[in-house]
Amino acid sequence: MDYVYGPGRNHLFVPGPVNIPEPVLRAMNRNNEDYRSPAVPVLTKILLEDVKKIFKTTSGTPFLIPTTGTGAWESALTNTLSPGDRIVSFLIGQFSLLWIDQQQRLKFDVDVIESEWGQGANLDVLASKLASDIGHTIKAICIVHNETATGVTNNLATVRKLLDKLSHPALLLVDGVSSICALDFRMDEWGVDVALTGSQKALSLPTGMGIICASPKALEASKTAKSVRVFFDWNDYLKFYKLGTYWPYTPSIQLLYGLRAALDLIFEEGLDNVIARHGRLGKATRLAVEAWGLTNCTQKEEWYSDTVTAVVVPPSIDSAEIVRRAWKRYNLSLGLGLNKVAGKVFRIGHLGNLNELQLLGCLSGVEMILKDVGYPVKLGSGVAAAAAYLQNTIPLIPSRI
Ligand code: PLP
Repeated sequence: MDYVYGPGRNHLFVPGPVNIPEPVLRAMNRNNEDYRSPAVPVLTKILLEDVKKIFKTTSGTPFLIPTTGTGAWESALTNTLSPGDRIVSFLIGQFSLLWIDQQQRLKFDVDVIESEWGQGANLDVLASKLASDIGHTIKAICIVHNETATGVTNNLATVRKLLDKLSHPALLLVDGVSSICALDFRMDEWGVDVALTGSQKALSLPTGMGIICASPKALEASKTAKSVRVFFDWNDYLKFYKLGTYWPYTPSIQLLYGLRAALDLIFEEGLDNVIARHGRLGKATRLAVEAWGLTNCTQKEEWYSDTVTAVVVPPSIDSAEIVRRAWKRYNLSLGLGLNKVAGKVFRIGHLGNLNELQLLGCLSGVEMILKDVGYPVKLGSGVAAAAAYLQNTIPLIPSRI
């Protein structure tokens, strides 16, 4: 047996990796192919065009790199910056912390703006740093759009406004790992220079593909950036793009066909409908949390995330026990609290190819677990609050109208 059996479907509610839909699984169930045959470049060319749509860019250049979100970070940084460059980075949770650690290990001069976990990026501090940076020593702003550890979504439009107001030329590098394809994300409109995601998040694919998109300004920066890069060098890709063969090394054929199927599903539903669905899933989850009398780790509404909710438990309860019981008793996978919020929060991931009834299943599981661990919850209270909202808001399925 290759996994620990539990009857029925596992309710996978970690904030990535997420469920892979059947059509994507079927599309990937295929033999390897010669990537130098005429077929793979044809497939790749269309994929590169189509993938731009999920970033909402027409001017960006995408790269499909065999890696994870962490590798995509490295690709964004090393292609655009030189060691010693001053960059401003926001520390608001575990993933922004890890990105900062990578930035420091790559020898950038990282100016960290820290906020309490549960808060968004402090853009007032950014505004004053930019205003005092007369000599334009800040080469890049690095920001995690959606901090998966705390369920906080940052306001990228405001970051762009702050840069534009001062005509500051810093590059804007955005981690969209738990946002792109689920939250409102507009690469061109917000002047994002590098945006990136990982295949296992809202695209609902297996892990293994970093999807990166570079603006013309980022590509220009890559011509002079001195950071050492080999595997992640965009230039190697660009050479093969010009040749029309696309691949500097062997791509995963299965992931390419999987991406094709994943994009087809997203386009069939409509990207804006996908984003609206995440809006409903997020809101329904928050209503349930409120009905349980628990609090959201995210401190203000403006930062609420529609892809993940971190639920704070009372001090007498260990949130890791909730996650353990969920899996052991109910075949439900919830996200652990990470680092500073370990034991204090559990996370409900609500992203990717997921519908409202699946979410209600998860919420009813959470209620039973809360009761199991001694929290006085009224069974059905969160589900009722979420269902009342969903029943009023779920539209007809776009492809079935
Ligand atoms: N950035 C964010 C916002 C994430 O949520 C994650 C992983 O969950 C990462 C980066 C790292 O991605 P990976 O684990 O694919 O390397």
